[in-house]
Amino acid sequence: MSPCESITIGLLPRSGVQLLCALLRVLGLQCLLLFQWQVRAVTDVAGASTAPVGTLYVVATPIGNLDDMSARALKVLAGVSLIAAEDTRHSIRLLQHFGIDTPLAACHEHNERDEGGRFLTRLLAGDDVALVSDAGTPLISDPGYHLVRQARSAGVPVVPVPGACALIAALSAAGLPSDRFIFEGFLPAKTAGRRARLEQVKEEPRTLIFYEAPHRILECLADMQAVFGADRPAVLAREITKTFETLKGLPLSELHAFVAGDSNQQRGECVVLVGGWSAPEGEQGIGTEAQRVLDLLLAELPLKRAAALASEITGVRKNLLYQVALEKQKEQ
Ligand code: SAM
Repeated sequence: MSPCESITIGLLPRSGVQLLCALLRVLGLQCLLLFQWQVRAVTDVAGASTAPVGTLYVVATPIGNLDDMSARALKVLAGVSLIAAEDTRHSIRLLQHFGIDTPLAACHEHNERDEGGRFLTRLLAGDDVALVSDAGTPLISDPGYHLVRQARSAGVPVVPVPGACALIAALSAAGLPSDRFIFEGFLPAKTAGRRARLEQVKEEPRTLIFYEAPHRILECLADMQAVFGADRPAVLAREITKTFETLKGLPLSELHAFVAGDSNQQRGECVVLVGGWSAPEGEQGIGTEAQRVLDLLLAELPLKRAAALASEITGVRKNLLYQVALEKQKEQ
């Protein structure tokens, strides 16, 4: 199909199309009409622009070792119109290292909601924008959530460019169960808040992952020991991908002593991983709360009735509670 036909279909009868094409060929106006068709193609019937919107790329950057920068991340950062960065002074050094001169604009937790509109305007105008944080994957304990939300609700494609992430790197080498895990981010800075949060996940069977600041690591391990118990397996993953990378796995009490005895372990960036809860022998996995309810009811009711009621209250299987109650009765 010639360019001429492509512009006239649906507008004129076929014989008219052929006649007009012949005329235009003669007049050498094909190029002009093709141009007009292209302009028309980006404008809908009502005249509103249907030009393609840009793409928001969420780009992971290294967490220490610059060799972890992916080839795709470099290509995207060099190719977009603008980079939204958590800290432009930090990211400019990364870009300079790789010889990239794409303009940067700040997108941090204090301006993200307001400035997000500015990035959105650029995206809706058809510009591609990349989002980066200081290190690792944006949005993972880093800014970017509001911008990604805004972009998605405005119909802007959001594309991840995966790479380094401290929690995943730590988990991949920690030797704790990795089939199921939960990420708790940063714990509250003060002991009372921290312990309250730890209490909420005390009986969590999946591997637990926390980010922690170096100046709080000792207090944090002390609180973990107090809440989870001295024997719970844990791993401290420090300075991952950097010169002084350390992954130390010990029961919580020993890990606390190890860090307390070496001030170097209280420096740098760290991830703490804690093995998930498993039921102490005899409890058969009903958990301390179900055990408490069962014990209270057993003191007042026959075994079968106590197990049934405890099951209704706690949601734990009746048969399991019955077995636990039976074992307990045998022991007494
Ligand atoms: N977005 C980042 C990511 O994808 O991992 C996390 C940013 S968060 C503000 C910074 C925290 O991540 C640090 O306090 C530390 O807990 C953890 N972290 C970052 N880099 C690390 C590294 N090289 N080794 C160990 N932990 C690291």
